[in-house]
Amino acid sequence: MRGFTTRAVHVGEEPSRSLYGDVVHPIHLSVTFRKKRVSEAEEGYVYSRTSNPTRDALEKKLAALEGAKYGLAFSSGLAAESTIILALLSKGDTIIAFDDLYGGTKRLFERVAARFGIRVVYVDARRPENVERELARSRSARMVWVETPTNPLLKLADLRAISEVSSSHGAILVVDNTFASPYFQNPLSLGADIVVHSATKYLSGHSDLVAGAVMVNDSELYERLRYHQNAIGAVLPPFDSWLLMRGLKTLALRMERHQYNAMRIAEHLEASSKVARVIYPGLESHPQHELARKQMRGYSGMLSFELEGGPARAVRFVENLKIIALAESLGGVESLIEIPALMTHASIPREERLRLGISDSLIRLSVGIEDLEDLIEDIDNALKTA
Ligand SMILES: *Cc1c(COP(=O)(O)O)cnc(C)c1O
Repeated sequence: MRGFTTRAVHVGEEPSRSLYGDVVHPIHLSVTFRKKRVSEAEEGYVYSRTSNPTRDALEKKLAALEGAKYGLAFSSGLAAESTIILALLSKGDTIIAFDDLYGGTKRLFERVAARFGIRVVYVDARRPENVERELARSRSARMVWVETPTNPLLKLADLRAISEVSSSHGAILVVDNTFASPYFQNPLSLGADIVVHSATKYLSGHSDLVAGAVMVNDSELYERLRYHQNAIGAVLPPFDSWLLMRGLKTLALRMERHQYNAMRIAEHLEASSKVARVIYPGLESHPQHELARKQMRGYSGMLSFELEGGPARAVRFVENLKIIALAESLGGVESLIEIPALMTHASIPREERLRLGISDSLIRLSVGIEDLEDLIEDIDNALKTA
């Protein structure tokens, strides 16, 4: 297999896919495609919800980046997740899920999937035995769903151990790989059945596109997902597919820089007397640092921290930053900061938030690719005035 960046740049852009030898894959907007005869077999393109040349090219590139056989592109991360659930689960089935999940995923499970009789049991998946215990207890467990690292506490799930217990109980393991990106972690190679991404984040990388991706190796799983991608219809349009392909070509370069900046900012914060605690999988102080070293090739660009002095200080700090933008989302070239308890995770009841470890003063930073010195100066100035 060719190197990561060679795949990112070239897969899906092959000259055989174009009439004119374009170096960059064209955007095919046509919704429908001419046939010579009524009786022509249904091969080639027919209708763009079912398949579209630009989306096909993107799906090849997405698969190549996870080292997967198949890729599928959706109109958002949550559209991808909805399609997985509707394609593979039925009334009465149970999902065993990491208790630290993206809020939108929890909302999808509890407010939408629950209405169709799908149950969710949450466990602390940092310990694979917790997953195994629930799998053994529940005869209806069909799916295990984890993120690693999680949002915003950067907890890790041991994917090899969890894939073993999942497959021994006949459950499908779904891994949300959004935080690590395929550059730093490939869950399929650790035994996962399905990888899902919010491509809105690192994959597109420029905070200008909402998209989702699914990668799998198993052809039966792929056929079911592909059937439902068309049947449900939450597909990524051609223009957005092209924009995502454009972003993916620089994924490796961006991830290297995100990680470089994040590691140094984490160390800088850890050394500051104004900071109470820093959570970053690349720090030796991270309780699962060894697991991160084992199953990831890098630690990505997300970190969380708490200042000395409570929530009001945290608010003053984030409001005093000049370069780092106070905004939700993550994974873009620009640094973004937020307070989960007041912003991205505000919908989780306070007691549950505290139980998970999301305090009122926890700050989440998505480190961008700006010059490190400028980011550190911005942070130091805001710490002073806060
Ligand atoms: C943003 C996000 C999602 C949802 O993706 P959208 O593209 O916003 O629908 C799912 N999982 C994680 C970890 C995310 O950060």
